[in-house]
Amino acid sequence: MTQQPYFRCDPGNLCEGAKCCSSIETPVTLSVGDYLRLGEATGRSPVEVWHEVGDVSVTKTNEKNQWLILLGLLHDPCPYLTPNLKCGVYDHRPLGCASFPFFSFLFSRSDVAYYTSGGYDCMSNVQLSKDQRRFAQELKGIMSDEASIEQHLFWQENPPVVQLRAEEGIDNYVDQAVSLQMTRDPEGNHQRSKRLQQTVFFIHEHSRQRIPVSMDQYRACLRSIFYVIYRDAITQRFENLDEQAIRSYQGTTARLRRLFKKEQARNPLRVIQR
Ligand code: SF4
Ligand code: SF4
Repeated sequence: MTQQPYFRCDPGNLCEGAKCCSSIETPVTLSVGDYLRLGEATGRSPVEVWHEVGDVSVTKTNEKNQWLILLGLLHDPCPYLTPNLKCGVYDHRPLGCASFPFFSFLFSRSDVAYYTSGGYDCMSNVQLSKDQRRFAQELKGIMSDEASIEQHLFWQENPPVVQLRAEEGIDNYVDQAVSLQMTRDPEGNHQRSKRLQQTVFFIHEHSRQRIPVSMDQYRACLRSIFYVIYRDAITQRFENLDEQAIRSYQGTTARLRRLFKKEQARNPLRVIQR
């Protein structure tokens, strides 16, 4: 039996550009710990990271038309992607980035098929090595611990959930976001204003011409709208992060650093370091 080759990351050869760092199908959900680590790596406070490169992440809940709002990162392309297709914050990269595409192989084979058919050749006809599996399992433990800290100490058990009304869809949220953004940036020159303007135009044109919107496009619209709506509330949560939370994240960050070091020390899991 021929041994299957293992997954390796080789942007430019095994995908166009660095597809998972820039394409609409793969926006990343960040933890609060990711924000702290990115802030440390780039000499910024978590609030500055949130304002400069942050985004919301939107996840469909089990309820009809209901969405959970968590933290994300701008992704078209990711602001940390360098011109030579490397990750500018590789040693501090978000957990969601480090988990890609390992979690798809481990927990969602249908995603592997979806990505493979969409030009992610790095995932085609490969499997994970033992080291890659071990890395992913350890990472999962850290992610799940950070998710509990976040739920308790950042969201106070109450992360934002948006219930869209079937009759009006996102229309009233679009209006709310537009008027909020106009008060923040009356000239409309800020990148967030431009992104929102593009979203409004996209929604308007697709509805006028009755062009179907894919789920990935719909999520991208929601991110643009809900970032504006939740920007201040989430800023406040970052400002209120207390000592207990910071200490908990120091613990998970120390574990993550050890894991990344181990990853580097092994014959590198990824041939090219994004
Ligand atoms: S992991 Fe991402 S950057 Fe690397 S080859 Fe695959 S799609 Fe490209
Ligand atoms: S791996 Fe780096 S460049 Fe890619 S999305 Fe994550 S932070 Fe951005």
